[in-house]
Amino acid sequence: MRRILVAGNWKLNGNKASIQQLVNSIVTGANELTKVSIAVCAPYVYLPLTAELLGSSAVALGAQDVSEQDSGAFTGEVSAPMLLEIGCKYVIVGHSERRALFGEKDGDTARKFAAARKQGLIPILCLGESLAEREAGQTETVVARQLDAVLELEGVQALSDAVIAYEPVWAIGTGKTATPEQAQAVHAFIRERIAAQDEAVAKKIQILYGGSVKGSNAAELFAMQDIDGGLIGGASLDAQDFLKICQAGQNQ
Ligand code: PEP
Repeated sequence: MRRILVAGNWKLNGNKASIQQLVNSIVTGANELTKVSIAVCAPYVYLPLTAELLGSSAVALGAQDVSEQDSGAFTGEVSAPMLLEIGCKYVIVGHSERRALFGEKDGDTARKFAAARKQGLIPILCLGESLAEREAGQTETVVARQLDAVLELEGVQALSDAVIAYEPVWAIGTGKTATPEQAQAVHAFIRERIAAQDEAVAKKIQILYGGSVKGSNAAELFAMQDIDGGLIGGASLDAQDFLKICQAGQNQ
């Protein structure tokens, strides 16, 4: 049985006061949720504050991106050793916003994935097609290409210490959620593609769904066989809604 993971992605949101409130509420609510893993991915500058507020709670800390470099003359970058030192367990790599708005290519994502793993961070590798790609029947081709970039650089065993998030771009921040069946079909495709190289890794890896997950639709998504939790954007900024999603994970 794979454990459900619910990870919040705060994106470019929050300030000291709002994060203090949000984290305190999440930590209090998460106390009773012992059957689900929970993480919050904060903006870089708020990672130390979030780490301090999380304290010894079971809620894990994550970052939203990482440099492929460990150190050196790379102005503006933040490295995996830095994230580790500040207390991160997870780091999102290849989010569709990084790919679409900041020109991140499959190869860049794969190198970030490698840099994170090398330090013992757990990369949350985001995969997903745009609306145009879905309508052109290219969903599997796109997701396979994004996944293969990591498999080719790192090998399938690297996925045994990683998480995948399937996030159809058309469902992110739009209020349009993939139906549980649509999501399940792609999750099964991803798992089968990994299984073709290593069945044990495929069985073990958590594949999260992301794209307008809310308290009201999480349970039906998490009930699907190959959906092992969610990567949550908008709803992760509302403690009550985020905790409802976590509760849906706890009830699975
Ligand atoms: C995301 O950005 O990873 C995401 C899933 O966003 P939202 O939940 O707002 O669609």
